Amino acid sequence: MQAVTSTALDPAELLHRLRARTAQSGESPITHIEQVPAREGRPVDWPSWVSPALIDTLAAHGVERPWSHQAAAATLANSGTHAVLATGTASGKSLGYQLPVLTRLLTDERATALYISPAKALAADQLRAVTRLGLDGIRPATYDGDTAREERDWVRQNSRLILTNPDMLHHSLLPGHQRWAQFLRRLSYVVIDECHAYRGVFGSHVAHVVRRLRRAAARYGGSPTFVLASATSGDPGLTASRLVGLPVSPVTEDGSPRGAVTFALWEPPLLPDISDDGSDMIQVRRSALSETADLLTDSVLAGTRTLAFIRSRRGAEVVASIARRSLNDAVPGLGSRVAAYRAGYLRDDRRAIERSLLSGELLALASTNALELGVDLVGLDAVLICGYPGTRASLWQQAGRAGRAGGEALAVLIARDDPLDTYLVHHPSALFGRPVEATVLDPSNPYVLGPQLCCAASEAPITLADLPLFGGDAAQAALDGLTASGALRKRPSGWYWTHRGRPEVDLRGTGGGPVQVVEAPTGRLLGTVDPESSHSMLHTGAVYLHQGVTYVVDDLDLEDAIALVHPEEPEWTTQARDVIDLSVVSVRSYVDAGPVGLFLGEVDVTSQVVSYQRRRIATGEVIDTRPLDLPIRELRTVAVWFTVSPRALEAAGISPADFPGALHAAEHAGIGLLPLIATCDRWDIGGLSTANHIDTEAPTVFVYDGHPGGAGFAERAYESASEWLRATRSAIVSCVCESGCPSCVQSPKCGNGNNPLHKPGAVQVLDVVLQALA
Ligand SMILES: [Zn+2]
Ligand SMILES: [Zn+2]
Repeated sequence: MQAVTSTALDPAELLHRLRARTAQSGESPITHIEQVPAREGRPVDWPSWVSPALIDTLAAHGVERPWSHQAAAATLANSGTHAVLATGTASGKSLGYQLPVLTRLLTDERATALYISPAKALAADQLRAVTRLGLDGIRPATYDGDTAREERDWVRQNSRLILTNPDMLHHSLLPGHQRWAQFLRRLSYVVIDECHAYRGVFGSHVAHVVRRLRRAAARYGGSPTFVLASATSGDPGLTASRLVGLPVSPVTEDGSPRGAVTFALWEPPLLPDISDDGSDMIQVRRSALSETADLLTDSVLAGTRTLAFIRSRRGAEVVASIARRSLNDAVPGLGSRVAAYRAGYLRDDRRAIERSLLSGELLALASTNALELGVDLVGLDAVLICGYPGTRASLWQQAGRAGRAGGEALAVLIARDDPLDTYLVHHPSALFGRPVEATVLDPSNPYVLGPQLCCAASEAPITLADLPLFGGDAAQAALDGLTASGALRKRPSGWYWTHRGRPEVDLRGTGGGPVQVVEAPTGRLLGTVDPESSHSMLHTGAVYLHQGVTYVVDDLDLEDAIALVHPEEPEWTTQARDVIDLSVVSVRSYVDAGPVGLFLGEVDVTSQVVSYQRRRIATGEVIDTRPLDLPIRELRTVAVWFTVSPRALEAAGISPADFPGALHAAEHAGIGLLPLIATCDRWDIGGLSTANHIDTEAPTVFVYDGHPGGAGFAERAYESASEWLRATRSAIVSCVCESGCPSCVQSPKCGNGNNPLHKPGAVQVLDVVLQALA
């Protein structure tokens, strides 16, 4: 086994070696190098209200003084102000909530507190940290799906600091609130850790779980102060307020020290032109996956322990298998020290991989963001990030994996051919400046609100006085609907759940369990895929990868939620195509800007995966398109759309024949750039553009949430329309291609095969819209 380097990393030297492979081509792939300097910490004195016993204990455990942000958040919370601490990874956010919580528990021997985290592993970490302090009489304990039944009783009766998760509140604590009466009456603090994880549909559900918790506590006389911890994001105070339904004060000034990171932005080089007549030239960049695989190979050859983050599970498998092959070519056997890792793997596979990486048996991992939460990996020197992970919080969380105890680290962001990635590698200030994207959730989503009101009613009848808590008018309308459908019964004293058992509500989705992927010849379960992705990932004929082994799907059985696959190594990948139809149901809000209209409202979308393309792995060339027979899916959701009068488009120089291509190109780029302002994935949203929509009677571009009832993305786009569309325009303009490419206006999920697209027209459309909105 080859020894791992023990010398400290020199980021400049490693970057130089990584660049060597492309040096002969002339053009440098590095568009920007940000030296993120080491930051001096800003320690402050202990706030005067902190329990002296706690100060002594912390000092005995090496905590001399708090950092400024910890003290600021703690003092707000101690004064009864709901607060959110939104600072960087490893800035010690936990002390910010531990100070007020533990001080209260130490000084009031009856007080209780609840700690909520999105992942069991985080609650376990937190339990270890508090237990280590050895404070008397607090008896911290976890309460989750792993807690044995007899142990649960003990925890409920004795623990004063309970560590749990939203699912456990939803399924166990809240339905059994009578048994928790004493704990809830004495509830002084609720800590919500990693609260940026509560976004989209899941976040909207959790917002109601928190409201149900507030109602249950109030029933017994409890009125807890909320302390939240978040990764850095745009407007953390507003997001936290939406999550708990109360005003929350943000603390964002980070006073903790940080090691230096060399952060390089990397744009893969253009491939030689494919066409020979020059008239219809399409310039294509080398794929980010091949580029990352090469960088991973070179980095391992340089003896650097490296972690590559790849957005898609497929990508992680591809990068691992290319790197393995190249490393074996260079040093026979070295390839076995690279592995792929992702969330869909079964638990045993994942644990084995984690152990090998920690022991040094593995030198490099190609991972999806499964590693972002919970797993504590140390000793990595370099992180390669293949494609922007969607949020700055994720970017810094991934980059933060590099850096051994105070040493320097290298992080490289490799741009994919995607408008957002193109924009970011050419606008570094959008990455290294102030964050603009906000964590988005929408508690008023009727598909979330209805089921959550049923849960609330099953816990205790909903009274008129409860309406403001659950959203006022929206709650009233939802209750009327639930009463009419027979889900709830209205009596003079309120709305009642009168059915046997409890409502079945899944916090993590809007219906349907995951599809199981089974190897047909052996019956072995390989992993799972969520139902929303199953049509496009597991259709018959789809190529599916698991641990670097390629499988082809024989059959997707939607009824039993099983996909049967067999191992096979074809020369192609597959990409599903869908067709979409959209109609406007209602308009929630609009801006009348002369020739331009901007709207937010409900829409009905029908979509169907109708075919898939097979593409050669090496070149990306399309081999053929094959039809599929999958059912239509219907979606009632929220959309943002703009209309432009045909006269204004013509006045801007677009000929009517080019309207469809110009609008279509603007739609694609707009979808690509939306993650810049809202924490969503391009795959969470869909779009439709047309030169004349039947409902708007004008040239229109729609962008809609891909989840039933909407998840807040379209709403955020509507609120920040100018900022969003300005960045969209800028991404198109800064792409060097002539007539449109995947880095600007082409979309990998286009149902029309990226046809028609008119790149200059898209810029003209956006100019008209931006001018009118200004
Ligand atoms: Zn382009
Ligand atoms: Zn399209």
